[in-house]
Amino acid sequence: MNKRIAIIGAGISGLTLAQYLKDYADVVVYEKARGVGGRMSTRYADPFCFDHGTHTFTARTKEFQSFLKPYIENGIIGEWSGKVVNLELGKKITERLWFEPHLVAMPNMNSLCKKLAEGIDLHVAVEVAPIGQKHSGVWVLHDKQGNMLGEYDWVISTAPSPQTLMLFKTALPDNATIHRARMQGCYSLMIGLNQTFDQEWIAAKVRDNPIKWISINSSKPGRNQNLTAIVAHSRNNWADAHIDDDIDEAQKFLLAQFEAVSGIACDNADYIATHRWKYAIVDETEKSGFYFDPIQKISATSDWCSTSRIEEVWLNAVSLANEIAKTIVK
Ligand SMILES: Cc1cc2nc3c(=O)[nH]c(=O)nc-3n(C[C@H](O)[C@H](O)[C@H](O)COP(=O)(O)OP(=O)(O)OC[C@H]3O[C@@H](n4cnc5c(N)ncnc54)[C@H](O)[C@@H]3O)c2cc1C
Repeated sequence: MNKRIAIIGAGISGLTLAQYLKDYADVVVYEKARGVGGRMSTRYADPFCFDHGTHTFTARTKEFQSFLKPYIENGIIGEWSGKVVNLELGKKITERLWFEPHLVAMPNMNSLCKKLAEGIDLHVAVEVAPIGQKHSGVWVLHDKQGNMLGEYDWVISTAPSPQTLMLFKTALPDNATIHRARMQGCYSLMIGLNQTFDQEWIAAKVRDNPIKWISINSSKPGRNQNLTAIVAHSRNNWADAHIDDDIDEAQKFLLAQFEAVSGIACDNADYIATHRWKYAIVDETEKSGFYFDPIQKISATSDWCSTSRIEEVWLNAVSLANEIAKTIVK
């Protein structure tokens, strides 16, 4: 009988693991959100689309470049290029250089994960409950409502470290590196204007401000350039200090900062919304790549064991998939 593997999370890590492991086992992916992508997601607010998590990524290793090649050839991945600037209140705009290609998925950031989800037994809107104890050598998974999801030989979590700690709390040793990973939050302010963007730049690093980065989302390849979709990310330490604030108050504050530093008036904006990422990026960690316990058959990976770069999390997921595959073919 085939081994059964449950993967928690349908972001880049979970779907990469699923694609690699489906030749070795029966793989099922559970995702608590309504769609795939995780922190590579897209917010749809017709006619606007916003990549409100990852805004762009780079590819520095041969492995990741080879993985991306067919997606580049098929128009799922493209280069986002144009003028990038530094913005600071009261200072002149200066140009900022990008020294390597900056990539995006097309037509939206979640498009790569959508492709990776093809052919995978995927269940969305299912929040997996903490795993408890093994019964007769297998993990019996349940959802948050107590419904049984199935029996699995292996369980892999790709959730951010605080969520993985909750899921695996009875099964992780006290000295596991995941206990020492620290994550930071982020607020993503999304602004939609029913007009073309009238400035020259596509993205801005914001200095000395609660906002750290602005992307003109509509300037990315494959997007509707007849309208303007903007995503402004808050600074992570500002988000942490305000993580429990009323979201409308946080939005009001960030919008005022955005207008002041960018000079873009939003009183006539056609869409304004804010997303709060409680666990956006890793702050401190030991670079272990993944957690792997071949005795209990539980594993975990994501950015908490390296850095918050799509390429790194993909490499971690591939390495973990290889380790697990080795235990299955033995
Ligand atoms: C605002 C922001 C900006 C970023 N910018 C960049 C950037 O420019 N470049 C870059 O390379 N990276 C960036 N990152 C980091 C990058 O997005 C992440 O490192 C990467 O997407 C992590 O992927 P993952 O699959 O490991 O985790 P995730 O994408 O977090 O996927 C984990 C999934 O698990 C699901 N889940 C959690 N608990 C459960 C449960 N109990 N049951 C079922 N499902 C569950 C979650 O819903 C989620 O979909 C950014 C992240 C954020 C938030």
